[in-house]
Amino acid sequence: MEKVIGRKVIRLEEVSSTNDYAKSVAREVPDGTLIVARRQTSGRGRLGRRWLSPEGGLWLSVVLKPGFVDTRMVFVGALSVIDTLADFGIVSGIKWPNDVWVAGRKIAGVLLEAKGAEYTILGLGLNVNNPTPRELEDRAVSMFELTGNIFSLDAVLKSLSFHMDAWYGILKEDPFLLMEKVRERTFILGRFVEVFDGDERVVGMAVDVLDDGSLLLNVGGSLKRILYGDVSIRPLP
Ligand code: ADP
Repeated sequence: MEKVIGRKVIRLEEVSSTNDYAKSVAREVPDGTLIVARRQTSGRGRLGRRWLSPEGGLWLSVVLKPGFVDTRMVFVGALSVIDTLADFGIVSGIKWPNDVWVAGRKIAGVLLEAKGAEYTILGLGLNVNNPTPRELEDRAVSMFELTGNIFSLDAVLKSLSFHMDAWYGILKEDPFLLMEKVRERTFILGRFVEVFDGDERVVGMAVDVLDDGSLLLNVGGSLKRILYGDVSIRPLP
């Protein structure tokens, strides 16, 4: 099958955010166009939170034009990071819904934006050779810090675009297979968690990730479905 992700690659030295750049060119570029920058000056996480993107990390966005809207594209990003890290000997898991963690720290974040029938922008940041910014100390980690090795950003990008291509194909053909893998890799299942769902705070046992991508919590014996939220692991009460 012809490769879609990375069939066109735009390389930038510095940009405000690869997602913003991707949005500005989305209409003109083909499905699967990959935009990668050496540095982002205003990288973003969810809700406009800052994503620190110094030189040495992999900061990229992909323009996807599958002809439908599916927020499970966020998992295409997360699973691809997990497979890429495995290629380089690092075991990781999904911190539902949009982060990848290794040993309790965030190594990558995924940000889905501009979800529309015309195009969706999948942004992804992976800490590769960059040291953790001081302000994130105990919360973030990079491939370099985990292994003591400096990696070829091109080699990591090649692996990432290979896996994204595969998972994007699976999302289109068999989204349930994608969700099976998500369930397998979501390490918060079976853990006691606190979730901020908008303004609401919910505390319970994470029991499942449903096929639509939502998280199922057991809150004092009744099941509650969470569409999106900030999750943190809590000790058992
Ligand atoms: P979360 O999903 O954890 O709530 P977001 O998707 O909102 O996170 O991403 C923004 C947050 O990620 C920031 O508030 C900060 O804590 C963290 N962060 C910022 N830059 C990095 C980075 N390079 N590596 C790991 N974590 C980061």
